[in-house]
Amino acid sequence: MLDFIITVDRSLMTNHHGKEFIGFMTTSPAVGLPEWLWMWICAPRPKCDKFGRPIEAPYGLRKIEAALVSAGFRAAIVDPDYLPRYIKSAKALLIGHHDFFAFCAPSNVWWAITKREPVNRKYFIKLMESRPVREFKERGGKIIIGGPAAWQWLHVEDLWEKWGVDCVIDGEAEKVIVKICEKILNGEPIPKYVFIGPEEVPSIEEIPVIVKPSVNGLVELMRGCPRHCSFCSVTLRPLRYIPLEKIEAEIQVNIRYGIRHILLHSEDVLLYGADGVRPREQPLLKLHETALRYAETLGWSHVSLSAVVYAQRNGRVLSKLTDMIFSKTGQRFIGVQTGIETGSPRLAKIIMPGKSAPYPSEKWPEIVEEAFSIMADCNVVPAATIILNLPKETPDDCVKTAELIDRLRPYPSLIVPMYLVPMGVLKDKRALLAFKIKPEHVDVMWKCLEHSLYWAPRLASMYLSDRRSAPVRMMISLFLKLIEWKKRSLEKKIREYLEMASEGAYEHKAVEEEEAVAT
Ligand code: SF4
Repeated sequence: MLDFIITVDRSLMTNHHGKEFIGFMTTSPAVGLPEWLWMWICAPRPKCDKFGRPIEAPYGLRKIEAALVSAGFRAAIVDPDYLPRYIKSAKALLIGHHDFFAFCAPSNVWWAITKREPVNRKYFIKLMESRPVREFKERGGKIIIGGPAAWQWLHVEDLWEKWGVDCVIDGEAEKVIVKICEKILNGEPIPKYVFIGPEEVPSIEEIPVIVKPSVNGLVELMRGCPRHCSFCSVTLRPLRYIPLEKIEAEIQVNIRYGIRHILLHSEDVLLYGADGVRPREQPLLKLHETALRYAETLGWSHVSLSAVVYAQRNGRVLSKLTDMIFSKTGQRFIGVQTGIETGSPRLAKIIMPGKSAPYPSEKWPEIVEEAFSIMADCNVVPAATIILNLPKETPDDCVKTAELIDRLRPYPSLIVPMYLVPMGVLKDKRALLAFKIKPEHVDVMWKCLEHSLYWAPRLASMYLSDRRSAPVRMMISLFLKLIEWKKRSLEKKIREYLEMASEGAYEHKAVEEEEAVAT
């Protein structure tokens, strides 16, 4: 019997066939494929034990589970399909998500462009409106919401009442959740909204070690980021490095349950044990030696481009790490996420002055190019983001970004455009339908598409080369062919549109449309 059930909808309760990057597809509506097939590719049902507890579960949920279990509560993560078994006796349903309503990039971009709801939003709504959740509420059970996207609930106040949400926790919840669950068991009232301030953020000692495996063997190296980009909420968290013993303990948990791929997770893996923003060789070598004692294959979640350059210029650290990984595991490459965001030094200086550190913002495009070249030499394949429509962005900034994307063509990589879509657009159907992307943004997005379609077929066959991935590889390859065909059919139109835009034909129209949407 469980008092506290921790769960999430199918778009996150999955291991994405063991391929973390396929998870990106859950941020989009199904394109060119039926939705069931799309979901099968990106979010298959995970293996569960006979009690409906998934063998691998999202890392954030595992942390909440660990906090509650170590505090003595009867709590576990349960797959959403198994909820009917537990709703009669459970006291509370705890739900955590990265992007409940698709308000975060890239979900909001695909939503604004296609005018169709991404599957992560659809499946979350489906879960909240499902019969087990409704029956649980009718019985008087509590619903507690948390996770990195908790802020989104401040924009959907009507849904708190509609779905009977009792409490939303915004911030690192490992300490606070224990207090809330205690109150629930004691029948005491709980707060409607908790923002975790500095005094409630768990210290290193208070961050629990997960007790069951995480999706694709993800283990956390650090929290927070010292670069302080103005558009990023990670910087609100204090910077903490997880001690190697705790990282090793979490790797061991995964290995014990047969998860042999380990994904080192940090906003910047190369900053583990760093001197500020300067990577240090020794902690990185030690971290990798430890992980490689257990892992059959090893991955990195994110690196920053300036850390790549600094690490390589100072002791060829990137080469040493990748040589170590490839020689011990036999894998041929590492995929990693990174942020370019802009190709304009002017804009970089305004919105992300720390991103290029210890190098000056004026050098940002050169840093990006050098980092891509280093990564290509070391068989590290980046999936990089560009952010469009940033505050204070000018058309000239977009031209610089487009030029940088052109220069990155020789390096194996994917480049994904993110777009700061105003919340008003996503919350109002009329505004969403009227929403149009500016010509300079279309230009950059088109370049991202050309770049990514140039590399994607080769990268997909490398990434999905194992026999187990053959069906997914086939579907992805079909999907890429469809996108390539669609791109060719649109090419002429887009070129004409961009040509007319460069002659100023759309300026007047764009202003009129913006005014119409605003009113
Ligand atoms: S480098 Fe990345 S994680 Fe760090 S503040 Fe900037 S955007 Fe956020």
